[in-house]
Amino acid sequence: PATESKRLRIAMQKSGRLSVDSQALFTSCGLKINLREQRLIAHVENMDIDILRVRDDDIPGLVMDGVCDLGIVGENVLEEESLQRQLDNDSFDYTVLKRLDFGGCRLSIAVPQEDEYRGPASLDGKTIATTYPRLLGRYLKQQGVNARVVNLKGSVEVAPRAGLADAICDLVSTGATLEANGLKEVDVIYRSKAVLIQRKELTDSKQLKLIDKLMPRINGVMQANE
Ligand code: ATP
Ligand code: ZN
Repeated sequence: PATESKRLRIAMQKSGRLSVDSQALFTSCGLKINLREQRLIAHVENMDIDILRVRDDDIPGLVMDGVCDLGIVGENVLEEESLQRQLDNDSFDYTVLKRLDFGGCRLSIAVPQEDEYRGPASLDGKTIATTYPRLLGRYLKQQGVNARVVNLKGSVEVAPRAGLADAICDLVSTGATLEANGLKEVDVIYRSKAVLIQRKELTDSKQLKLIDKLMPRINGVMQANE
C-alpha cells in the first residue's frame, strides 16, 4: 500500500496475560484509545498512532517483517520466533527499546512429582512436550542432552499424564498449574518479561519523533511503578 498514512503502528496482544498491562502502559503514556472497541485496529485519538490487537505469537513476525513499527511481546515468544527464523533463513531483525516491568515468567522443565531428577542428564532419551521447541532445543544442545521434543500448542501440562511425554517444558509463574497436574519444576531454562520492540529500518522522521516522545513517558511510568 502507498505510505501516505504514516501513522505509527503498534502491535499488542488482543486478549491474554499481556493485554491489560500493555493497554495500561499506553493509557499512562497519554494515548487516548477507545477501550470498548473490540476491533483489530484501534485508532489513537490524540496521536498519529494505530494499535493493532493480535495473537501474541504474531507480534514478533509483524515487527520483523516491518508490517508493524512497534510491538509489545514476551521475550519467550520473541526469542522462539528468532530462533525459528534463523533456522528457516528468514529475516529476524528488531531492536529492543525497553524491557518492561510486566509479563514476568520462566520457561521451566517439569517432571512428574514422583520422578527422580538429577540435572539435565536425567532427560537423556526422554520425550519432552513443549510449545517452545527452539528454546528447549537450544538448551538441550547446550547441556549435551539427547531428548525427543514434541511440539504441542496447548495443554502441555497434561502431556505426561496422558502418556504423551516424560517431561514438559512450559511457562511458569506461580507453579500452581504444575502442582495441580502432579508435576514439579526442576530446571529454569529461560527467564522472560514483556519487551517493547521496534522494527529495524524505521526511518520516517515523524515516526521517529513520536517514538522519542513516547520513550521518556514509558520510562517515567516505569519509575513511578517501582
Ligand atoms: P494468544 O491468544 O494471544 O496466543 P496465549 O494463550 O498464547 O495468547 P497468554 O497465556 O496470554 O498467551 O500469555 C502471553 C504471554 O504472557 C506469555 O507468552 C508470557 O510471555 C507471559 N506470561 C506471564 N506469565 C505467564 C504464565 N504464568 N503463563 C504463561 N504466560 C505467561
Ligand atoms: Zn499465543
